[in-house]
Amino acid sequence: MLNFALGPVMSSDLILEVGSRQTPYFRTPEFSKVNLENEQLMKELLQASDDSRAIFLTGSGTSGMEATVMNVLNEDDKVLIVNGGGFGQRFVDLCNLHNIDCDDIKLEFGHCLTREKLFEYDGKDYTAFIVNICETSSGVYYDINLISEFCKKNNLLLIVDAVSSFLADDLNMVEHDVDVVITGSQKALACPPGIAIIVLSEDAIKRVEKNTCKSMYFDFEDMLINGIRGQTPYTPAITIILQLNARLNQLKNDGGIEAEIQRISDLAEDFRSKITEFPFVVKSNCLSNAVTTVHSKEKIEANIVEILKNEYDIWVSTARDDLSKTMLFRVGHMGDLTPKDNDTLIEALRDIQKRGLF
Ligand SMILES: *Cc1c(COP(=O)(O)O)cnc(C)c1O
Repeated sequence: MLNFALGPVMSSDLILEVGSRQTPYFRTPEFSKVNLENEQLMKELLQASDDSRAIFLTGSGTSGMEATVMNVLNEDDKVLIVNGGGFGQRFVDLCNLHNIDCDDIKLEFGHCLTREKLFEYDGKDYTAFIVNICETSSGVYYDINLISEFCKKNNLLLIVDAVSSFLADDLNMVEHDVDVVITGSQKALACPPGIAIIVLSEDAIKRVEKNTCKSMYFDFEDMLINGIRGQTPYTPAITIILQLNARLNQLKNDGGIEAEIQRISDLAEDFRSKITEFPFVVKSNCLSNAVTTVHSKEKIEANIVEILKNEYDIWVSTARDDLSKTMLFRVGHMGDLTPKDNDTLIEALRDIQKRGLF
């Protein structure tokens, strides 16, 4: 199996080996040490300030999104959300569910966030800003420098969902003045799904301490207190925590975040240059390095995603259904993939083309 889907992604042999071991008991000094090291390594990778904290929450990425809305925001807030697809809409739905006042910047699917569009919201009474920095449903990456500038100017708390963008695109918590970063174990961290990671700035921690969270399981304050001694209130996905530990150490030893961003960016560029031989187009000029959304020049009836999976054992992600049938699929560049794997996918596409299916 060769997996170019957008999470879970291909794990390295090391991560698979850690996953094959017996699950250890976790209320031990040894496991506390792992948790504390993971927190430190995450902060280093995001270039977070010393007084920031990282939470490892057992749940999918959405648990991190929802818990952030529940713990960091409150009913006095007025939130501005970038809404250019499925994940942006998810934050709008979460804010509505939790009675947080919000407006959304509606962007057409697949479109970039322009300065002009963003600054229509300048000088209003917002208190916080939420963005899925890579809107994975379309592959679009929103400019963090532009958003950071806007938030600083308007004194907004900045929450960045970087679930699919972390390790693929540049993100620096101090430099970009980000208060909350959310990511997950199953995207570029290339571990199985099951852990959401939330990194909080000092300002975000203050908000958590002031707010009352109406949930026992999702209570950040409880998690932060337990985290001081390297523990969690409840049983975490222990094996995934251990896999993350191996992965985070590997990243650190292999040249840190810059090296991984470069590797993913090179892989994306390699793929984007290779697909030009087909009647395909990459329409957007603001894609994340994590993903390439492939369109066709003309309508294609064949379901390429299914054909690749069933007949070539290659997995790519579906694209949003559109009536024109020209949006074909999304190819991820995260995880244990190489340019040679890109060649395998290109070879399969050549074969499908030869068969007259497009
Ligand atoms: C994958 C992803 C998530 C998390 O989705 P889950 O299915 O809950 O793990 C959240 N935000 C973005 C932008 C994502 O790409």
